[in-house]
Amino acid sequence: MKLVTICTPMYNEGENIEKFYKEITKVIAPIIDKYKFEFLFINDGSLDDSLEKVKEIRQYDKRVKYVDLSRNFGKEVAMAAGFDYALGDAVITMDSDLQHPPKIILEMIKEWENGYQDVYGKRRERPGESKFKKKSSSMYYEMLKKFSKTPVLPGVGDFRLLDRVCIEGIKKLRESQRYTKGLYMWIGYSKKEVLFDAEERYAGETKWKLSSLINLAIDGITSNTVFPLRVASIVGAIISIIAFIYMVYILVSTLFLGNDVSGYPSTIIIMLFLGGLQILFLGIIGEYVGKIFVETKNRPIYLIKEYSDEIE
Ligand code: UDP
Ligand code: MG
Repeated sequence: MKLVTICTPMYNEGENIEKFYKEITKVIAPIIDKYKFEFLFINDGSLDDSLEKVKEIRQYDKRVKYVDLSRNFGKEVAMAAGFDYALGDAVITMDSDLQHPPKIILEMIKEWENGYQDVYGKRRERPGESKFKKKSSSMYYEMLKKFSKTPVLPGVGDFRLLDRVCIEGIKKLRESQRYTKGLYMWIGYSKKEVLFDAEERYAGETKWKLSSLINLAIDGITSNTVFPLRVASIVGAIISIIAFIYMVYILVSTLFLGNDVSGYPSTIIIMLFLGGLQILFLGIIGEYVGKIFVETKNRPIYLIKEYSDEIE
C-alpha cells in the first residue's frame, strides 16, 4: 500500500490541532483501505500547547508523528523540515488552521493516481480580503512572472500534493532563505491544478504581519531572479550615455560662449536624482550580497529538539 503523508507546520495552533486531525480522518475514511496515512506535524517553536495536543492524539493514533523544532524558524523552514522527515510516497502539505479544506485531499490523490507529480491547490477566492491586498498581490505576481524564468503562480500556495520525486528534488535545495513557492516551480515535473475555496481560519489569528509579507515578497524576487541587478546595469548605462552627451554639450558651450556660473537648479536636480538612484541600486545589490552572506555560512536550516519516531 502506498503511504501518504499529511504534512503541516504549526505555530501556536493549539486550538486547531484536534479539529484538523478529526476533519482529515473523516475525509480519508473512505480510502483508508487503499492507502496508508501518516500525519506529520512540524512544531515551529509554538508558545502554546500545540505540541501537547499532538502528543495527546499520538497516544491513541500512532500514525501521528511530529518534529519539534528548536525555535520558531518560520513557515518556509518548517516545511523544509517536513519534507525531510516525511516518509510518504506522496506528501500533502497544508496549513493547520483549516483554511485549506481537507476534502480536496481526495481530489489531489486522484490526480496523483492519474500520473501527476505536483498537484497544487489554487484558491478561487479568499474570503475577507481587502481590495488593496488582492490588487497588490496580483500586481506582484505579474511582476514576478515578467522577471523570472520560473514564474510563481498567483493564488497558489502551500496546499499541494508532491510525489516522492518532487520531495527528493526539493530536499536537495538547502538554501536557508526559502521561498518555497519558487522552489516548487524550479523543480519542474508534471503539474496539475486543483481549485479550492479558501476557508476562514478555524481559530486563532494569522501569523502574518505586513512586515513579514513585505519580506517574503522581496525574498520572492531576490531568491528567484537577478533581474533587478540587470535593471540597475541597464539604467546605469543609459544614464552614462546621457551624461556623456551632456558633458560634451557643457564643454563646447563653455569654450565658445563662456560660463556665467548659473545652473544651480539643474545641478541640484541631477545630484539628488543620481544620489537617490545610487542608493537604491546599492540597496538592491545589498539584498543579494546579504543573501550570499547568509548562504555562505552554510548553517543547517533548522535544528530539532525531538522527532517522535526517534524517542520511542
Ligand atoms: N506557521 C508556521 N510558522 C510561522 C508562521 C506560521 O509554521 O512562523 C504555520 C501556521 O501554523 C499555519 C501556516 O503556517 O499552519 C499558515 O500560517 P497562517 O495561517 O498564519 O498564514 P495565512 O493563512 O494567514 O497566510
Ligand atoms: Mg492561515
